[in-house]
Amino acid sequence: MSGGVAEADVVIVGAGPTGLSLAIELGLRDLRAVVVEQNARTGSQPRAKTTNARSMQHLRRWGVADTLRAVAPLPHDYPTDVVFATRLFGRTLTVIENAFEGAKRRDPRFPEPGQWVPQYTVEAVLRDRVDTLPSVKLEFSTELEDARQSASAVEARVRNLTDGQGEIIRAKYLVGADGSHSRVREIIGARMQGEHAYALNYNLILRIPELLHEPPSRRAIMYWLINEDTPAVMGPMDNDGRWFFGITLPPGVKDLDDETIRRRVIAAVGREIEIEILAHDVWAAHRLIANSYRDRRVFLAGDACHLHPPFGGYGMNLGIADGVDLGWKLAAMLQGWGGPALLVSYEQERRSVHQRTIAEAVENYRTLSAQLLRDNLDEESEKGEQARHAVADEILRTKTREFKTLGVVLGSRYLESPIIVDDGSSPPHDHYANFEPSAHPGCLAPHAWLPDGSSLYDHFGHGYTLVAFDELASGEQLAQAAERASVPLTILNFRDQELRALYGAPLVLIRPDQYVAWRGDHLEDADAIVATVRGAGDREAAVETKERTA
Ligand SMILES: Cc1cc2nc3c(=O)[nH]c(=O)nc-3n(C[C@H](O)[C@H](O)[C@H](O)COP(=O)(O)OP(=O)(O)OC[C@H]3O[C@@H](n4cnc5c(N)ncnc54)[C@H](O)[C@@H]3O)c2cc1C
Repeated sequence: MSGGVAEADVVIVGAGPTGLSLAIELGLRDLRAVVVEQNARTGSQPRAKTTNARSMQHLRRWGVADTLRAVAPLPHDYPTDVVFATRLFGRTLTVIENAFEGAKRRDPRFPEPGQWVPQYTVEAVLRDRVDTLPSVKLEFSTELEDARQSASAVEARVRNLTDGQGEIIRAKYLVGADGSHSRVREIIGARMQGEHAYALNYNLILRIPELLHEPPSRRAIMYWLINEDTPAVMGPMDNDGRWFFGITLPPGVKDLDDETIRRRVIAAVGREIEIEILAHDVWAAHRLIANSYRDRRVFLAGDACHLHPPFGGYGMNLGIADGVDLGWKLAAMLQGWGGPALLVSYEQERRSVHQRTIAEAVENYRTLSAQLLRDNLDEESEKGEQARHAVADEILRTKTREFKTLGVVLGSRYLESPIIVDDGSSPPHDHYANFEPSAHPGCLAPHAWLPDGSSLYDHFGHGYTLVAFDELASGEQLAQAAERASVPLTILNFRDQELRALYGAPLVLIRPDQYVAWRGDHLEDADAIVATVRGAGDREAAVETKERTA
């Protein structure tokens, strides 16, 4: 750090999954981003384990899905099942198979299954990808202290925590991907609204060498342990005997000493076992969303603007998707083709997805191991047998939702967005588990495998993609309109009636993030379509003006 003034297109505060994803989107488009991270390295938080099918699609687009799978610690064929049992070595109550659609098999609905992998490994892969992008700079041990903005720029005041040197970074935009205690949120005066810390939980990372040699008989990614001593959730985290172990703290308790931890782990495991405590972390269950995600040139993304219980594995994945959405939109503005409503659409689109997902996570958090406890559960008797049957039914009724999430993960849609052209048709049914692929504008473009074995998505461009499914449909007018507005557009011709039926129209315009922006069969008003999708239509400009004057 020079102690002077540096220049960038975008300053990103925070090199967690959100900040790194945003940096990749910008770097892939050769835009200059500086990521400042107060920690000395990425991956200090052993939190998320679920990288869902949608995030894996992004990693595939960035060329690192296979890299992540190669470094993920559990074997390729490890089942992503969730076992419910009285103790780790106790009685099995029931099993939910293929949680988070993690089975490594080809599915027509998506190109990449979910992956069970620690957050620190995901961050390492994203950071390595960032390192390959010459226009992005990662500054570790560097803290954002303050920021101010004018009509044309943002100035970030940062400090190197190693040598104490300060620096100003002048940029066009600044994004706070700086987590739950966001300094950027404070700077722009945004407030989290909702329910704060409605329960305290304890997340432990343990080394349990014995489980390497003698694991439970049924392999699973999570074991929900339902017993009166220590209701808990635990699961393998890495291939060196590392496990996570989570419990809810009793009211009034804020921490646990090592001896209590040991006793609780042994009770949950159901046998004497040696443990090494590697890390512990108290986390609060919140249900919070920022009242605003933006002040002019400064934005919030990831945990900085939404917080919810981690049940369902949504937080990191939402942050990655925020980084993607904001990334292509900021790029459009910096490249000069984005209209005034494009950045407005960031908050409109993402807020609706955040609200829906937070509601899911809160619903999942309602039933934890302790709530599933019943009398006689561990008893070798008819009564015990009956109790186990009854609780198995209860588990399947209340917990399936947490692990069968494709309707949320791939089915989230942007129906109210000002940059989507509605075609008057009905959107597909919205259900947490049942994902119905649809090219209804605002939905994720339906996936398909092509005869050569490639994914349809592999053919989409970094900009918009116009797909023509039959020879009568010509995208020529749209291509010309896009060129007039300098909008990057790839044209694909797939003469395939099955695909046409799947997409419901001969011409479909797909955004850089794989969402359908428009579909139809004629292009009389190609300029108006392009104006709307790039945020420069009349309606969009009016929205922007109203927002600015409010
Ligand atoms: C127990 C637990 C389990 C979870 N499991 C899952 C899961 O399975 N799947 C899932 O999707 N999510 C899960 N989550 C949630 C997930 O961990 C978070 O949602 C995710 O880390 C958010 O990413 P982020 O990049 O927005 O923020 P963070 O990961 O918090 O990153 C923010 C970064 O900003 C840096 N920073 C902060 N302030 C400054 C500053 N002033 N200057 C410079 N740098 C700064 C921080 O050091 C940090 O590195 C879990 C969370 C918990 C607690």
